[in-house]
Amino acid sequence: MTSTSLPMPLVWTPPRAAKPPRHLADLTVDQVRAAMVAAGHQAYRAEQLSRHYFHAPVGQELTDVPIRERDGLRAEFLPALLTPINERLADRGSTRKTLWRAFDGTLIESVLMRYPDRATLCVSSQAGCGMACPFCATGQGGLTRNLSAGEIVDQVVWAAKAMRAGELPGGPGRLSNLVFMGMGEPLANYSRVLTAVRRMLAPAPHGLGLSARGITVSTVGLVPAIDRLADEGLPLNLAVSLHAPDDELRDTLVPVNTRWPVREVLDAAWRYAEVTGRRVSIEYALIRDVNDSVQRADQLGRLLSGRLTHVNVIPLNPTPGSKWEASTPQAQDRFVGAIRSHGVTITVRDTRGREIDGACGQLAAPARAEPTRS
Ligand code: SAH
Repeated sequence: MTSTSLPMPLVWTPPRAAKPPRHLADLTVDQVRAAMVAAGHQAYRAEQLSRHYFHAPVGQELTDVPIRERDGLRAEFLPALLTPINERLADRGSTRKTLWRAFDGTLIESVLMRYPDRATLCVSSQAGCGMACPFCATGQGGLTRNLSAGEIVDQVVWAAKAMRAGELPGGPGRLSNLVFMGMGEPLANYSRVLTAVRRMLAPAPHGLGLSARGITVSTVGLVPAIDRLADEGLPLNLAVSLHAPDDELRDTLVPVNTRWPVREVLDAAWRYAEVTGRRVSIEYALIRDVNDSVQRADQLGRLLSGRLTHVNVIPLNPTPGSKWEASTPQAQDRFVGAIRSHGVTITVRDTRGREIDGACGQLAAPARAEPTRS
């Protein structure tokens, strides 16, 4: 075995993980303008580049910028962030799961779902997830890293352009909704998620012009972050992944419950509803013989009765190696009926993309792609 000797530092420090390249979507509009001027360009190039990034069809040249400035501006403000490396279709093409590779080989997934009246992107906020919920495929792989704001926005921009180009059956359309229900815990990557959200809300040319009411942030229940979100002044929808009305069971299904128990999570949810005026969704993955008894439905109904809330039942989606399965249709009906008897509204989510492992809790891209040679 041969080795080249390198000067050894006295104290070994692990190599710092490289960061995703800076992109204009990582910055506020004012920061982009300032960085533009600092790099020797006209401030109005910020508008041109934003318009190009958010609104031009994929593959279009940056024609309104002089050729001599193009490459430099691209490299500095519009570096490629995510490369689509695989797409899988379900529901006759109206559900599309995309596997993305980031600059460092990290893999993430997002799912675009077209309905007759809307199109929703299920977006990832982290590569992997550190919350370790045992019924979720993403949770089993642990956290690889946070995504940058640009990497979050990039998933959405691609989806918005795919809709505009009519890539999903039904002709050209508009991306109307966004749910942070892909890989990761969005509130554990708070500042980047919020930077990304502000870009998606910003009207053209600076952003996608989405409506805050069309964006849902889903969380395991990180109480301080829920409180912080309530104070952002954005009427975003909040979804809380409860999955059990009692701490004993929730401790096992959503391990972070040992830090913020059911009562504290629900109190934070009601504060959020009060401050924002938005109805909070309570997510409940229904697992056969685990959390689907009428007794638990009653307990949940009592906790939610009279609140500005809505229960979203998600029939458990199978994940590799899991011993759990979805409730029987009878148990599901009994559970839903018991919740309704408390005057609480409840719907059962349709599970799009199950057969392509694209449904809730099934996103489990391997942490890294093999490095490719070009
Ligand atoms: N970390 C966020 C977003 C996760 S995914 C959160 O926990 O809310 C969105 C929803 O899918 C969450 O409610 C999550 O608990 C649920 N989910 C995870 N695995 C699932 C599975 N196998 N079947 C059904 N729902 C699942």
